Amino acid sequence: MPSAKNSAGKRIFAEICSMAIENGAVNLGQGYPDFGPPEHVLEALSNVARSDNPLLHQYCRVFGHIPLVEALGTLYSRVYDRKVNPLTEILVPIGGYGGLVCAIESVVKPGDEVLIFEPFFDCYKEMVETVGGIPIFIPLHPPEPPDPLRQLDSDNWTFSEEYILSHIRPNTKAVLLNSPSNPLGKLFSKSELEIIRDVCIEFDLTCISDEVYEWIVFDERKHMKIAAMEGMWERTLTIGSAGKAFSATGWKLGWIIGPEDLMERCQKVFQRCYYRCPTPIQEAVARSLEIEIRNLDTSDSYFVTLSKDLQRKRDWVVKTLLEIGMKPVIPRAGYFLLVEISTFLKNRRPCHITDHEAEDLQFTKWAIKEKKFGAIPASLFFDSERQNIGQKYIRLCFAKKDSTLEAAIDILMNLG
Ligand code: PMP
Ligand code: GLN
Repeated sequence: MPSAKNSAGKRIFAEICSMAIENGAVNLGQGYPDFGPPEHVLEALSNVARSDNPLLHQYCRVFGHIPLVEALGTLYSRVYDRKVNPLTEILVPIGGYGGLVCAIESVVKPGDEVLIFEPFFDCYKEMVETVGGIPIFIPLHPPEPPDPLRQLDSDNWTFSEEYILSHIRPNTKAVLLNSPSNPLGKLFSKSELEIIRDVCIEFDLTCISDEVYEWIVFDERKHMKIAAMEGMWERTLTIGSAGKAFSATGWKLGWIIGPEDLMERCQKVFQRCYYRCPTPIQEAVARSLEIEIRNLDTSDSYFVTLSKDLQRKRDWVVKTLLEIGMKPVIPRAGYFLLVEISTFLKNRRPCHITDHEAEDLQFTKWAIKEKKFGAIPASLFFDSERQNIGQKYIRLCFAKKDSTLEAAIDILMNLG
């Protein structure tokens, strides 16, 4: 079966994003907000830039600028309901991405197997394989037998415990969890996390928990941290992102939180590859977090207002997609939603689809070139065995200005 990956190579994500830019497409492809960070975050950065303290422009502590790790320690001690030591249990890497590299490199050795929930953020596979690990994909199934209504809810895309258990081997080393997830927008439930916890404990696995979208949660849901569950702190590395928390993805600053022994190993990778992150950005994030900590869970919290705003945008896009006969999988958190296109393509035939390339990729290229509409083909987020599922979908990012969404909706309404 043709796939988006083997038809255009691994760089397809970058290619599609460049194609969208070159064609001046309304771009719901790559996952970044086209609006800026909130005022207090901008003010923090400009105050840092103009500060009369020259040291804010020089090297800082290697594993994290002191004011930042202290702010993170305060915030996450509250979230975890345990004292998080800022100096030994927190590391500040280059974005959530850098956090993933440090965590994966420090945990996974050649021949180790890593369980990854699928669909998955596409870099996981390559990161694991680069260090000689073997990714084992655990499918998050759309409901079976197919149910058009239940399929529309990311909550109903779930995994089978038996499937996990039958894929555990002596060399299974880690679970890579992503909640809220990219691209599905799935927020793992307490009972799902309990199953994962029990597997980790029974088979002595490390959990690498990518939670970069932890603060963006809809429908009154609450994000749950697997590291806060009994027996998990000592075996979990949790990854966060200032870029996602403050709508400043270009700042590329993240954090890893975990027990001292696992953190020491992450620090070694970090020290070898990056050594430290930019001081002014760390100071600005520290100041922004201090404000956020004071406002946490109140209506003044940016995390609260961002979630509300993105929920409104999600609802708007979902409603439009349903109106035009495309089926969205409704996300409960994060930036993204998957949209089923194959029924739409069969019924409406807006473009000619051939057998030479994956359907989602052909549709995406056509939409960019002919309709100036940018999306990401979803087969990128599936392993080759389940490309047939991925090809039925595209991924849209709704973390965009209302004017961008309006333009996108206008195009969708006239797609053919
Ligand atoms: N994890 C997931 C699930 C992501 O979608 C992304 C991309 N935004 C990252 C990690 C990387 O985050 P950052 O931009 O902070 O490096
Ligand atoms: N996480 C973002 C996305 O999934 C950005 C990824 C990237 O830049 N490759 O779109």
